[in-house]
Amino acid sequence: MTVLVFNDDPYARSTTANVVRCADNALVFDRTVFYPLGGGQAGDTGVVERANGERIAVLDTRRDRETGEVLHLVEAVPGDVAVGEPVVLHLDWERRYTLMRFHTALHLMSSVVGAPISGCNIAPDKARIDFDIDMSLLDAGTIEREVNQRIDLGVATEVRWITDEELDAQPELVKTMSVQPPRGTGRVRVVEIPGVDLQPCGGTHVRNIGEIGPIRVVRIRSEGKKNKRVEIVFADCTV
Ligand SMILES: [Zn+2]
Repeated sequence: MTVLVFNDDPYARSTTANVVRCADNALVFDRTVFYPLGGGQAGDTGVVERANGERIAVLDTRRDRETGEVLHLVEAVPGDVAVGEPVVLHLDWERRYTLMRFHTALHLMSSVVGAPISGCNIAPDKARIDFDIDMSLLDAGTIEREVNQRIDLGVATEVRWITDEELDAQPELVKTMSVQPPRGTGRVRVVEIPGVDLQPCGGTHVRNIGEIGPIRVVRIRSEGKKNKRVEIVFADCTV
């Protein structure tokens, strides 16, 4: 299994690694700092640096559904890349840090709205949650103010692992209807923002919610019976 460096250190921007497998347009390594698309969070981009100095752009990162491998998608794998070859992986850190700030902001928004989540998406320019809630209960100004008040608390986030049994004993932790927390390994990753939010999550988050900075609710609209979508950007975003 690939060592997922971001699980324990989401601030790691690069790592040494060895090539485990190469396909036409994907590279697999024994360890990685690249987060694969999942839980609504976009896959990472960046660069693979070879010992000969060649730099291969990583366009996206996905998880192979069958093998669980982390696939680093590239335009074309150079013909001379060999299994076992040592490389250095470099994240597009600015992009990833933005995703971490948005992702953590969505945890705060879920605690503010307090309704079941029917979907979410975290992109570099905006993020959104779909709630299963009556439209009349969603007010942009209230959500924005209450999320920003929580951000101002400047609380440190905590990551820990609990057993499947502990999770089963607290079903109220699972707020996302469409994405069940990953099971099968006997333990589940839980992200806690003390006094604010606690839920299973495999994504990457900032160390302290103060790093998010103020957000703005730009749109609330209905995307279906169970999907009332709230979209946010950072307050300093001019678009
Ligand atoms: Zn999360």
